[in-house]
Amino acid sequence: ASNAVADHDKLSGKRVAVVGAGVSGLAAAYKLKSKGLNVTVFEADGRVGGKLRSVLRDGLIWDEGANTMTEAEPEVGSLLDDLGLREKQQFPISQKKRYIVRNGLPVMIPTNPIALVTSSVLSTQSKFQILLEPFLWKKNDSSSKVSDASVLESVSGFFQRHFGQEVVDYLIDPFVGGTSAADPESLSMKHSFPDLWNIEKSFGSIIVGAIRTKFAAKGSKSGETKSSPGTKKGSRGSFSFKGGMQILPDMLCKDLSRDELNLDSKVLSLSYNAGPRQENWSLSCVSHNETQRPNLQYDAVIMTAPLCNVKEMKVMKGGQPFKLNFLPEINYMPLSVIITTFAKEKVKKPLEGFGVLIPSKEQKHGFKTLGTLFSSMMFPDRCPSDLHLYTTFIGGSRNQELAKASTDELKQVVTSDLQRLLGVEGEPVFVNHICWNKAFPLYDRSYDAVMEAIDKMEKDLPGFFYAGNHRGGLSVGKSISSGCKAADLVISYLESCSNDNKPED
Ligand code: FAD
Repeated sequence: ASNAVADHDKLSGKRVAVVGAGVSGLAAAYKLKSKGLNVTVFEADGRVGGKLRSVLRDGLIWDEGANTMTEAEPEVGSLLDDLGLREKQQFPISQKKRYIVRNGLPVMIPTNPIALVTSSVLSTQSKFQILLEPFLWKKNDSSSKVSDASVLESVSGFFQRHFGQEVVDYLIDPFVGGTSAADPESLSMKHSFPDLWNIEKSFGSIIVGAIRTKFAAKGSKSGETKSSPGTKKGSRGSFSFKGGMQILPDMLCKDLSRDELNLDSKVLSLSYNAGPRQENWSLSCVSHNETQRPNLQYDAVIMTAPLCNVKEMKVMKGGQPFKLNFLPEINYMPLSVIITTFAKEKVKKPLEGFGVLIPSKEQKHGFKTLGTLFSSMMFPDRCPSDLHLYTTFIGGSRNQELAKASTDELKQVVTSDLQRLLGVEGEPVFVNHICWNKAFPLYDRSYDAVMEAIDKMEKDLPGFFYAGNHRGGLSVGKSISSGCKAADLVISYLESCSNDNKPED
């Protein structure tokens, strides 16, 4: 206990700047503040949440960014407990009912091996290929000139080797379209599905590896004296909160004072000056009306702004420009989100469940959207009981131009797809449109270079840490986990600095 007190003393009074008030930055700030550090968050926008944004209007509630999250990462469970958010958690009704379009019609995705055998999502040949994968999977082409060809392998290539092309076209393609607005051909397997990529390295077969990993996890859990609450709750699948996802960032920053949370504060430059004393970092930012804020001093910086924004910042080290030209250009996927409501009697074939995804191959049947969430089926309190509220995604790498189309055009596109899928009649009662020009960074096959550049920034700039969805995963849970990890690294860094500065006895 005396060590803990000593560590706490070492850290109290230390000042950390956090750039970006999305979930990753706010999770980092929350963790640092709870450990007694001084935090200052800088956010370019006039609100917190970044890619989480819920709107409450005219008796409707909708999410314009992330709609649900999971609790696969242990940091998420702890945060929900600490923030008292358990009672606000909202689990979708019939969330296991998820649909894929096949031959123009929605078909339920099988969730267990027996359902797979009877399902019409895949042909008999593909079903055998899945069940016999432990014997049939093919190794990566070792004749490639690259020393480790798997580093460059696409998501499409990987799943093709294990399960065949039909699985890529009808399960993987709609899944990556719906979760990252990308396509399986461009995505890097190593960066998009690191767990499966590692399973292949250890076990070869994905099916064998997945079963053995699951049993190993169960075995180690039963050996624990106390069961971990996080894992049990994590298995309940996706969830949101009463009132939408925005509650999460709102709660994360609820205890930050006006001095600690600077909205409308776009960071323009950062400067590092090594010295015997701490507070080696200074930071400047500007607001919309161009007021420059005072240049304050910090011991460390957690950067969570997207890398395209970091690239625009001016960084100085020891009075010299520290050029960020080693940061590669990142491809971002544009995405439009259209919210519609329809009177219930105008939806002739409503589906219960989570939502429907549309494989690229199904575009031949005239579909133009990536998929639709059945938002008010999942969460009936999102609209009056005589309406259905839908959330539809358009664009991504499949159709980058369409993502930027006008609200009128997209309203027609969505209505036409929902007419085919759910039998909606006539025009929607209500339409809302938001376009994210840079919805998701594309974890493409050259993403290793991005990770190396992030490592280089951290190595060359002492006390600088990068977190957020450009590193280690795109999901809300992964972003939170990344923010918490950066907070831990800052704490170890500051502890090691104070050890270095301790006067010799
Ligand atoms: P961001 O939320 O992007 O936050 C970065 C912040 O930095 C922003 O607020 C930005 O304004 C700020 N900033 C930028 N430049 C500066 C600067 N110079 N100075 C100060 N601040 C700056 N994930 C899921 O798990 N489930 C989903 O259902 C889901 N759906 C999604 C749907 C959409 C439409 C989108 C776009 C994303 C979705 N995601 C989903 C992904 C997930 O929402 C994001 O990956 C995650 O929220 C990213 O959090 P972040 O903190 O890393 O980044």
